[in-house]
Amino acid sequence: MPEMKFDLLVIGGGSAGVRAARIAASHGARVVLVEEHRLGGTCVIRGCVPKKLMVLASRFRAEFEDAAGYGWKLDGHTFDWGRLKRAIDQEVHRLEKVYESTLKQAGVEIIQDRAVFEGPRTVRLVGSGRQLQAQHILVATGAVPAEPDNYPGSQWVANSNQLFEWDTQPRRVLVQGAGYIALEFACILQRLGSEVTVVMRGAKILRGFDEDVRSHLQSALIESGVRIVPEARLASIERREKEGALSVRLSNGMQFEIDAVLGATGRRPNTAFLGLGNAGVQLGERGAVVVTAHSCTNVDGIYAVGDVSNAVALTPIAIREGHAFADRVFGGKEALSSFACVPTAVFTTPEVGVVGLSEEAALISAPDEIDIYISRFRPMKATLSGRDGKMLMKLVVHRPTGRLLGAHMMGPEAAEMIQLVAVAMQADARKADLDATLAVHPTAAEEYVTMREPTRRHGGLTQT
Ligand code: FAD
Ligand code: NDP
Repeated sequence: MPEMKFDLLVIGGGSAGVRAARIAASHGARVVLVEEHRLGGTCVIRGCVPKKLMVLASRFRAEFEDAAGYGWKLDGHTFDWGRLKRAIDQEVHRLEKVYESTLKQAGVEIIQDRAVFEGPRTVRLVGSGRQLQAQHILVATGAVPAEPDNYPGSQWVANSNQLFEWDTQPRRVLVQGAGYIALEFACILQRLGSEVTVVMRGAKILRGFDEDVRSHLQSALIESGVRIVPEARLASIERREKEGALSVRLSNGMQFEIDAVLGATGRRPNTAFLGLGNAGVQLGERGAVVVTAHSCTNVDGIYAVGDVSNAVALTPIAIREGHAFADRVFGGKEALSSFACVPTAVFTTPEVGVVGLSEEAALISAPDEIDIYISRFRPMKATLSGRDGKMLMKLVVHRPTGRLLGAHMMGPEAAEMIQLVAVAMQADARKADLDATLAVHPTAAEEYVTMREPTRRHGGLTQT
């Protein structure tokens, strides 16, 4: 007999599920959360958190080198992959426990098992065989790495989940893809000492980002020592049994030896083995759960939030959707998540921060009304360290109204700065508001409030 003692059954203990469970419980709902792996999900266990710790680790080498220009004499330094891995594992474990205790304190029952739908109201736990029913069921099962294309030797391609388990650092790594994950790990591995080759099917990295950012970052990555092979795909991988090395051949005929391949060619919603068909839930492109703006599926009482639907795959969006769902269904609040202004960062080195429209996207809706402000400059720290590389800061402005449509930057602390520019954009700030804001001097961020003349005007006079 199915157990029916819950108001809400949450499947998935990642960013979206944990937030929804906790808030629903705080509104008085009886909540059970089923997680098959570890509480915290992708972000905490094998995404944002361990990745960012690796990014921080990877930046020390340049800091040590730069210090010499400031009078520091540092004796040799070495890096220990195993030590970093153990430290990160410890921190992730700590965070996992924090998630667990927060949920328990809120009164959420946690079950470690795999949940599968048996019908529109019934979920079976694969491990224990228990059947659960609830008035409301929330699907928050996230996304998983896309499988590599089918070619000889594709089984040697590791994904980002597996990278976090590597016990040793590969000396030579091929990274396939040119999106967030590929580029972030290319920089991490290269700065920690691996030789990195990025193989991408397109001509330029970061499809969909502003063209100036794409070009600027691609040049910066090449200058920093990452090898980029454009317009190529993996054709075959052969493992040399004796040395354990991998011999790869690309579609353009290139052939070389490496020690590991990281595939980062996108992620797909995690619905493949969930039995959603048994519940009659409609799936869309790439198996994503189709939802309304209120996170409702086509089946009454079943909802979906986070990466498993077609939401932009970012942690703050998953959290916001989970929170809004719980407030709406259990808190009587008509919360609707608005994602008109989504800030994001790519944690490459140098890093990228973006909010709003690219120049190209802005021109689609207002081809003759866009002003572009660009500043490229050497960060102050580079004056004494002698390091090459310029920062890029860019604003996309709607000329008739002065409204800020987009802000883009590349360079140190871009992610931190773009967060605050996003506040201004959320508040519908105009270019005149930036102009009226006093600068903090000397900083890089002050460029955003001191850009006076457009670099180019679409539909207006071009200025130099
Ligand atoms: P998830 O966090 O994936 O949670 C889903 C949970 O459901 C998992 O714990 C899974 O084990 C569980 N589950 C699945 N099926 C079942 C089942 N049948 N039964 C029980 N449990 C199940 N976003 C950012 O904003 N910033 C970043 O810097 C960033 N870095 C990233 C780096 C990497 C390498 C990756 C892969 C992603 C990164 N992201 C980042 C994206 C971010 O991690 C996701 O958007 C976010 O975690 C989605 O949350 P979610 O709750 O929808 O899914
Ligand atoms: P992305 O969509 O960012 O990038 C996928 C890359 O793989 C693109 O370069 C794409 O090429 C390429 N690609 C896709 N299919 C193939 C194929 N069959 N053969 C060769 N190349 C292919 O996905 P990621 O996996 O990097 O990340 C998934 C999502 O996770 C991101 O979109 C983001 O939302 C989130 N994330 C966020 C982070 C952050 O906030 N800092 C960090 C990491 C992940 P093309 O450009 O030609 O389409």
